[in-house]
Amino acid sequence: ETQAAREYVNKVYEDVKKRNPHESEFHQAVKEIFDSLVPILAKEPKYIEHAILERMVEPERVITFRVPWVDNQGKVQVNRGFRVQFNSAIGPYKGGLRFHPSVNASIIKFLGFEQIFKNSLTGQPIGGGKGGSDFDPKGKSDMEIMRFTQSFMTELSKYIGPDTDVPAGDIGVGAREIGFMFGQYKKLRGANEAGVLTGKGLGYGGSLTRTEATGYGTVYFVDEMLKDKGLSFQGSTVVVSGSGNVSIYAIEKAHQLGAKVVACSDSNGYIVDKNGINLDTVKRIKEVERRRISAYVEVHPEAQYFEGCNGIWSIPCDIALPCATQNEIDEASANTLVANGVKAIGEGANMPSTLEAIDVFLKNNVLFGPAKAANAGGVAVSALEMAQNSMRLSWTFEEVDSKLKEIMTNIYRNSVNAADDYGYPGNLVVGANIAGFVKVADAMIAQGVI
Ligand code: GLU
Repeated sequence: ETQAAREYVNKVYEDVKKRNPHESEFHQAVKEIFDSLVPILAKEPKYIEHAILERMVEPERVITFRVPWVDNQGKVQVNRGFRVQFNSAIGPYKGGLRFHPSVNASIIKFLGFEQIFKNSLTGQPIGGGKGGSDFDPKGKSDMEIMRFTQSFMTELSKYIGPDTDVPAGDIGVGAREIGFMFGQYKKLRGANEAGVLTGKGLGYGGSLTRTEATGYGTVYFVDEMLKDKGLSFQGSTVVVSGSGNVSIYAIEKAHQLGAKVVACSDSNGYIVDKNGINLDTVKRIKEVERRRISAYVEVHPEAQYFEGCNGIWSIPCDIALPCATQNEIDEASANTLVANGVKAIGEGANMPSTLEAIDVFLKNNVLFGPAKAANAGGVAVSALEMAQNSMRLSWTFEEVDSKLKEIMTNIYRNSVNAADDYGYPGNLVVGANIAGFVKVADAMIAQGVI
C-alpha cells in the first residue's frame, strides 16, 4: 500500500507542477505536505478513491484584480490584487493579506494551501484562503497607504463577507491597513459587519491578544516541545529573525519565560545585542517611527548591526525562531545552526525553512516546530475575534491568552499523536500535516463531490 500511496502522491504532484508552471513556492508547499501524507494514504484508501489530493490542490476560486491608485505626486499607479479562496470544507475562507513586491500567484497559492491545514489544526471552523498585492508599502505615506488600501478593498469587497471569506493581516498589513480596509468595506456595504476582517483595532471589534497571538503562540508551542524533553526557555539564548508583528511578540514572550533574545533583523540586515534585545526600542523603531532596524544601534551603541540576512543564523543559539519570511533558512544555514548546537526551531513565519533545511533539522534530531503548527496562534485568535464579533461582546486579555495557550497545546499534542500513530514518532512535520489533513479530507468526503 505504501508503494501505491507514494505513486499516487507523485502522480498528483507531477500534475501540479505541469498545471501550475513557474510556481516554485506553491510546488514546495505541496511537496512538503504530500510527502508526509503517504502513511495515511496507505492506510486509508478512501482518500485516494475520492480524489482528495487532486481536489485539494485546485483552489475553489482564484481572483486577480487591478488596483489603481494615485500617489503623492499625482501619478496614477497600478498594482495587482489577489485573493485565493482555496478550501471551504470546514468553514468560511480565512487567511491574511500580504502587501509586498514579491507577491505573485505562486506566493499567494503556497500561503493559501498551507492555510487550509493550519486552520484545520486550530480546531476551529475556518477554511483556507489568502490574498494580497505586489504593492510595496515601504516608504509610502499614510495617505498613499490609505488610497491604495481603499482601492484594493473596493474590488475585494465583492468577494468577502463574515460568512464567506474573512481576510486579516500578513506581511505589510497591520492594524493601520486593516482599519482603512474596514472603513472602506463598511462604506461600500452600508452595514457594520464586524466579522468581515480580523486584526481590527480594539475600539471597533478587534480582540485583545490578537496582536500578540502569532508570536506568543509560537513561543507557547516551542515551550511544549522543550518541556517534553525536560528543557525550557529559562536561561536559554534565542535568535529571532524579523522585527515585525510576529517577531516582536515572540521576543516579548521568550523574555517573559526567562530567555535572552540576542538578535533580530529586517530585510536589510540584523542586529546583535549580547545584553538581550531591548524590545521597547524595537517597538518604537518599527511600529511608531516605521524605520529600519539598523536605527537600533543609534540608541544602543554596544549592539552591532550587520548588512544582509543570512548571517543571523551563524549566531550561536539554543533556540531559533525564524519569523521573517519564506525560505529564509536554507540548507547551509541549517547546517550552521546545527553545528552551533541549536536545540529547537519554531517557525513563526510561513515556510521559512527550505525542504533541504527541514531535512537537516530532522536528521540531526533538532526539535522542529513546523510553521502551520507553530504559527497557528495568529489565525486561531482571529477565529476567536470572529466568535466575539458574532456574540457582540469582548473577552479579557487573560481569557483570550489562556484560550490561545490551550489551542497551542492541543495542536502540539494532536501533532505528536498523529506522528506516533503513523509511525514517525517525534516528526511534527508529518504529525501536523496528517492531523490537519484528516479533518478537511473527511469533511470533503461527507459533503460529496463539490
Ligand atoms: N497571516 C496569518 C497567517 O499566516 C494570520 C491569518 C489570519 O489571522 O487570518 O496565518
